[in-house]
Amino acid sequence: MPELPEVEIIRRGLEEKIVGLEIKNIEVIRPKTFQGDRKNLWGKKVLNVWRRAKMLGIDLTSDLTLLFHLKMTGQLIFEKGKEKIIGGHPTEDMLGPMPNKSTVVIFSFDDGSHLYFNDQRQFGWVKVIPTSRIEAEEKKLLGELGPEPLEKDFTWQVLKDNILKRKKTPIKVALMDQSLIAGIGNIYASESLFLARVDPRRLVNTITDGEFKKLHQGIVESLQTSLKHGGSTLSNFVDAEGKKGYFLNFANVYGKEGQACRGCPDKVVKITQAGRGTYFCPFCQK
Ligand SMILES: [Zn+2]
Repeated sequence: MPELPEVEIIRRGLEEKIVGLEIKNIEVIRPKTFQGDRKNLWGKKVLNVWRRAKMLGIDLTSDLTLLFHLKMTGQLIFEKGKEKIIGGHPTEDMLGPMPNKSTVVIFSFDDGSHLYFNDQRQFGWVKVIPTSRIEAEEKKLLGELGPEPLEKDFTWQVLKDNILKRKKTPIKVALMDQSLIAGIGNIYASESLFLARVDPRRLVNTITDGEFKKLHQGIVESLQTSLKHGGSTLSNFVDAEGKKGYFLNFANVYGKEGQACRGCPDKVVKITQAGRGTYFCPFCQK
């Protein structure tokens, strides 16, 4: 499932490439994925590309916004000639020619470039919404969202104040609660707890200020590392083993059960918490 960095990577790429372009056409291959009247969008210019948690918005002229949710397997691929920007759920065929068999919507711009929305399992969607109604729509879709961890005003104190709203919850589960912090999923919850050396099973009310500080650092560091290694261009992608699971190469514990811990001679273990896999080192994380 794409997490915050995967969506942020495509947002940054698109911001650079499509702001100012005009939508020439929208081809809807899977009608259920596209909610709205595509005719309203012809000739509209791109004003802005933004992200909130794991949703991506493209603001257009005439008070229109395209709101994307990539869900489990959504990916967005921008192509202009040989240039390619890729974001979202990683697959082997995302490197190949577009469109492919998982393409559900194609946006064409006035400079000859295209944006492909691909989705193997087809839970993702894109909606046309009046820009002025985005906030209300966000609340409806996602409920109240916590602060964005990459914003400047996200301090360790903000983290602590928000997380402490769930005192009797294991810290890993609380980190993934979108109403406490926006956009942290399974990967970055596990990774940040490893960096902070905190056992994911500990209840929120046992975490000390010193640990909240380390956890805050760990969240920011793991997201930034992923953004750095996620790569926003094809050339970054095909680098080394980047092709497979580009966002997992940097991981310390996520997906590494049974492998040696990077901090000690012990092995990483996997447990299940609230139905999701948690990876950690029982020796390093207390
Ligand atoms: Zn260890």
